[in-house]
Amino acid sequence: MFNALVQFIREQYRSDDFIPLHAPVFAGHERDYVTDTIESTFVSSVGAFVDRFERDMAAYTGSPRAVATVNGTAALHISLKLAGVLPGELVVTQPLTFVATCNAIAYCSAEPLFIDVDRHTLGLSPTALDAWLTEHAEVGDDGLCRTRSDGKVIRACVPMHTFGHPADLDGLVSVCARWQIVLVEDAAESLGSFYKGRHTGTFGALGTLSFNGNKIITTGGGGMILANEALGTHAKHLTTTAKKPHPYEYVHDEVGYNYRLPNLNAALGCAQLEQLEAFIANKRELAARYAEHFQGSDLKFFTEPADCRSNYWLNAVICEGHEQRDALLKATNDRGVMSRPIWALMNHLPIYAHCRKGELSNAEWLEARVVNLPSSVLPDLVV
Ligand SMILES: *Cc1c(COP(=O)(O)O)cnc(C)c1O
Repeated sequence: MFNALVQFIREQYRSDDFIPLHAPVFAGHERDYVTDTIESTFVSSVGAFVDRFERDMAAYTGSPRAVATVNGTAALHISLKLAGVLPGELVVTQPLTFVATCNAIAYCSAEPLFIDVDRHTLGLSPTALDAWLTEHAEVGDDGLCRTRSDGKVIRACVPMHTFGHPADLDGLVSVCARWQIVLVEDAAESLGSFYKGRHTGTFGALGTLSFNGNKIITTGGGGMILANEALGTHAKHLTTTAKKPHPYEYVHDEVGYNYRLPNLNAALGCAQLEQLEAFIANKRELAARYAEHFQGSDLKFFTEPADCRSNYWLNAVICEGHEQRDALLKATNDRGVMSRPIWALMNHLPIYAHCRKGELSNAEWLEARVVNLPSSVLPDLVV
């Protein structure tokens, strides 16, 4: 089974060797910039590439500020703190995500509240959120949204742009505004993805990116916080040990974090960002070829939502059911073509099984059916 698919993928990558899900490509100035940091000795917490990476990312995304961090999880942790999340509070998120989204909530001693996703975006459903809040929550005279049953504050909402496909941002912005909930976007997978012409991660009060080795561009490990001027300044302070500027004295005015991105990693990031648009053009061409391959088959290739430009970070197909999903995973992996099922739902992990949740039928439906296929930038393809 799936012989034609395996052959199709091997043709795209012109390879008889193992084909990974997503491998980085270093085809630009990576070596030059990294060598620069070594020759200058500025490999660590101070250096020109960090400033440049932040400026370039702010310009690319259209965010007033972009603050580099050591990874995407750290970016989320600080963003939730800046959103005002306190111990014991609830933070809305989707069960269909990578565990880092929930872990960042747990680092704040808060709890995830799982709301269903939409099938056409794979992201948090504003309709499901509004329905849950209408049944279970109210906004008090103090402007805070609380559960009616036990008065828990629902402080923030963290949608995730799954595989680079933007969630329904108009809907989420309006539901969060109506219920006085702070919107924080986990845009770890969606660098280069735009919703109605605006970059994902710039719709909420804060947004976060990741540059882990498997993401669309990589710094080895790294992340970024997107925010306005005031929150961006505070984010920079908190992620760099909260030290007050002074020529030589050590004065720290808050419990800060050592979440800064080393200059060595930022150098790699600057070179990668220069190639981002070329990577996206290449990946969109690959996605178009997948779409054509699956045309008329019983597997449905997932395509970008309306009014969006997705980065197509990870290509995904929706199988007819669990058995076909397992057969596809086995057929490809057995033949050295890597594929992976979508994550197990967060509410199925023992660590988050006790958390509150709404009705999750779309997430469960997708959990049983979605498979990711090889998605690295194609070799030698100039689009
Ligand atoms: C990659 C990723 C993160 C952050 O991961 P780091 O490895 O910490 O950079 C967060 N959320 C999602 C959905 C991700 O895919």
